[in-house]
Amino acid sequence: MKDTIIIKATCPYCGKETCIEVDEAKYARFKRGENINSALPELSASKRETLRNGVCAKCQGGSWAGWAEDEEKDFGNDDEER
Ligand SMILES: [Zn+2]
Repeated sequence: MKDTIIIKATCPYCGKETCIEVDEAKYARFKRGENINSALPELSASKRETLRNGVCAKCQGGSWAGWAEDEEKDFGNDDEER
């Protein structure tokens, strides 16, 4: 198993918290200033965007391939369940 950590990002627009699993060592490289595209190439563009500025799937547009599997389809019911 690789050492992965869960990054929680809070959306600045709607306040939704998004959890993204990343390789700890690679995330550390990103935090030290490495370009996120080279530090975390395995993440989808949308997840990299969420890591960078916290903007959630919905607020980015919510139409990315590869994201839907992680995103609950609960439109219109934000943050009611937790
Ligand atoms: Zn949002």
